[in-house]
Amino acid sequence: MTFAQQSLTLHLFGAGGAFSRRYGTTCSMLALPDGKRWLIDCGRQAPDQIYAAGLHWHDFEGQIVTHVHGDHVYGLEDFAFVRFFESHGEHKPTREGGAIPKMIAHSAVLAEVWETLAPSLRYLREGGSLTAGTLAHYFEVLAARASEPPRQNPWNHAEVFDSGLLGLVARETEHVPGKPACALEIRVSGDPDDPRIAWWSGDSTVDIDILSAIEPRTTVFFHDCTFVDYPGQVHGYFDLLEALPERVRRKMVIMHHEDNLEENRAKVEAAGLRIALSGHSYDLGSGQRIA
Ligand SMILES: [Zn+2]
Ligand SMILES: [Zn+2]
Repeated sequence: MTFAQQSLTLHLFGAGGAFSRRYGTTCSMLALPDGKRWLIDCGRQAPDQIYAAGLHWHDFEGQIVTHVHGDHVYGLEDFAFVRFFESHGEHKPTREGGAIPKMIAHSAVLAEVWETLAPSLRYLREGGSLTAGTLAHYFEVLAARASEPPRQNPWNHAEVFDSGLLGLVARETEHVPGKPACALEIRVSGDPDDPRIAWWSGDSTVDIDILSAIEPRTTVFFHDCTFVDYPGQVHGYFDLLEALPERVRRKMVIMHHEDNLEENRAKVEAAGLRIALSGHSYDLGSGQRIA
């Protein structure tokens, strides 16, 4: 499998929702013009999805995490252990001086990342301790370059990260009330002065205000989508996506679907929304699908 390297691209390994059996749990790859690859989320099926795509954990520069739910992070233990303990071709494991993968996550999300990984990753022997392992043994955790102060929650409203050509803002969304979860505003060019972004919801309810506000500088929106409404909705309910302004809808790609996607396809297309499926790739500069 080969991926275009001329511009920033996004490839979906899995495009399904939390309980999808048909579309694969969420895990996507950002491929930067310099050839570096980052993962966005790492769901429970990610280890097998990446293997099936002909890639290996050692092929990735780092991991971006939107929030801690199994369909977004249950592949991370595999990533951490394989890079730490196993070699691959000329790549040495981290514990023998090989490159350490980077991790970008909002600080509030990061705390939960460690809560979920600690029971596996803390058992490293160091000094007199048998449980000396920390997230920093397995990932180089990047600090935010800047932040926006808290609003309705005790954590920062947004945090800004840079790593080489990658620049992004992790901004809190309304997913499960009280739970840290972020959408990603991904800079589509290597130029920090270029304001254009691609937007990735992670998991979020529909926030018409922010989507409308950032639309002029957004090339493409990827939004999780559900066709079933219920009290305490935590995802992008289709009827609200369908009601977004036309200028937002024409840039909108829905993802993180459950298995009833096909029975709803006609109304998605009628609303002018595109549908992301596993194996699809997008050029984030143009916002157009390329494969
Ligand atoms: Zn999810
Ligand atoms: Zn979630």
